[in-house]
Formats: sequence, C-alpha cells, structure tokens
Amino acid sequence: MDNHILIVDDDSSIRDSMSEFLEAAGFQISLAASAEEALVFLESNAAEVIITDIILPGLDGLELTDKIRRAYDSDVIVMTGYSADYSYEEAISKGASDFVFKPVRFEELVLRLKRVIKERKLSLERIQMLEKLKKLSITDGLTKLYNSRHFFNHVKNEIDRSNRYGHPLSLMLLDIDKFKVYNDSYGHLEGDKVLIKLGQTIKLCLRKLDSAYRYGGEEFTIILPDTEGEEAQNVAERIRAAVEAETFYPVDKTGVAITISIGVTQYLQDEDISDFVQRADKAMYISKENGRNRISTLFHDTSCHQEKK
Ligand code: GH3
Ligand code: MG
Ligand code: MG
Repeated sequence: MDNHILIVDDDSSIRDSMSEFLEAAGFQISLAASAEEALVFLESNAAEVIITDIILPGLDGLELTDKIRRAYDSDVIVMTGYSADYSYEEAISKGASDFVFKPVRFEELVLRLKRVIKERKLSLERIQMLEKLKKLSITDGLTKLYNSRHFFNHVKNEIDRSNRYGHPLSLMLLDIDKFKVYNDSYGHLEGDKVLIKLGQTIKLCLRKLDSAYRYGGEEFTIILPDTEGEEAQNVAERIRAAVEAETFYPVDKTGVAITISIGVTQYLQDEDISDFVQRADKAMYISKENGRNRISTLFHDTSCHQEKK
C-alpha cells in the first residue's frame, strides 16, 4: 500500500500525464476512468491516496470521497477545474485531505501528496502510541496480567451486565501461601520470579472469557463472566493443582514448591461491588485459616463449602 496512488479521471490525457509525472517522482500509480472503476479497484487493492477529479460520469468525485472515507483507510485529494462550483469546505466535509485546482501543477501536487502521506504516518504513529499507553495503563509491569485499576473497571462492567441480563458472574481471589517466608529465605528477586510464573500459570488455566488481575502484592483476582460458582470452583482447582505441581529453584538444584489459597464467590443480584469482592476475600481467608493450599467458596454470608487439597 505504501506510496500507492490511485488517479481517478475520465480524461485519459490527464490520467496519463499525471501518472507519468508521479511515477517519475517515485510513486506507484494505478488508474481509473470513473468512480465506479475506482471502487472496483479498491475492493481488491489498497491505495494510500486517491486523487480524484470531482466531475466524473456517473458517481461524482465528492460522492466517491465519501464512500472511500467510510469504507477504506485511504486519503483522498480532490481536483476540480470549476473553482466556483465546488468549495474547499465541501470537499473537506466529505473527508478529503486536500484540494487542488485544474490545470494541476504537478510540482505542487507532489508536495501536497507528500504532506498527506506524512500526516498519515504521524496519525498512525499517534494511534499506535495511544494503544500502547492504554495497554500499559491497565497492565501490571511484573506479571503482565491486568492491574487492580482495570480490575475495578472490569468488574463494574460485568456486574452491570449480570444485573441487566441475569447472567451468573463469579469471582476468584487467590493469595500465595507463606510468601513472606519465601522472600525472606531466597530474596525478593526470587520471589518476583514466582509472581511472574504464577501469572503465566493462571493465564494458561483460564477460559476464553475469564480475565486475571494482580490485585495487590501477592494477591490475584480472576473474573469469570457467565459462570456459576460451582464451575468457578473447577477452574480454581485447576489453578491450585497447576501451581502446586510447579517447582522453583531459588538455590542450587533443590526444588521448592509453592501453594496458593483461593476464595470463590458468585455475584448476588444488585449487591454492591465491595460486598462481592469482600466475600471472595473472606472465602480466601477461610482457606488460610483451614490450613492453606485449598479452595473455599462463599455463596452468601452463611454458606461455606470447602474443598480439601
Ligand atoms: P499467608 O499465607 O498468610 O498469605 O502468608 P504470607 O507470608 O504470604 O502473607 P503476608 O501478607 O504476611 O506477606 C506477603 C508477602 O508478599 C510480603 C512480601 O514480601 C511479599 N510480596 C508482596 N509483593 C511482592 C512483590 O512484588 N515481590 C516479591 N518478591 N514479594 C512480594
Ligand atoms: Mg496477601
Ligand atoms: Mg500470602
């Protein structure tokens, strides 16, 4: 697509002379004699910029501009010989990036083309940079899971969806067991490696719609949309077992295993986000109290079900 220009003009002498000049200036040129022909071309080819005459048989250049801007990622420069009939504003409002009068001075056209192409590159870079920043702002730097800010936004959306459509929604909160001892024994860097690996393990155990977050230091949350508590419990068990099966080598060749405690809960219609999250936290603490390396579920304040390791 780079440097590919499509010239649309019903006058073959203009098409040919313009094409010759622009090719000599380093552009790759394609030609169309009407808007219809241009649209057929664009169905299977990409052009960075389309230079079109306004007055064409059939669909005119402004209608073509409008169609291109709606359907394709191309810029349009329009040409007209009747400066009084078509205004610059009209062309720009249809999405044209520039406007030139006929007879076209080719040197000027090349400069305008280069400016349009440069602006395309800048705007693409800006979009990519914004996407990167957006991703950074919701990602935890160490584990590459989502961060807690994103957790609260996402859980709010899922709660809204659950209240609106009555779909089940489950939440899992997990915490590494005796992680302070691990850090104290092997150092913070070795602890960080555990957190990174745990992030990867969690990701591997998730289903398509589930999303995982680093909630705090060594605490993680997982949102499970469209999921009943019992099913969330199965996912939790997969994660618990996968983590337990992992071996770390913080010193020499002596393998060390870590375990996690998990709390699972299901959303209750119309309850506050904080009650929902606190219940998952409470369930996780029940797992801690009962010996760690296990899953506890709290479906409402009184019923607690536990799964032993
Ligand atoms: P429990 O089984 O009750 O959860 O015990 P614990 O030691 O895991 O819990 P505690 O809350 O006492 O300690 C949490 C530890 O997690 C303390 C801290 O050293 C460690 N930790 C938190 N964030 C990080 C981190 O980013 N990197 C590393 N290496 N350690 C962290
Ligand atoms: Mg903790
Ligand atoms: Mg802990």
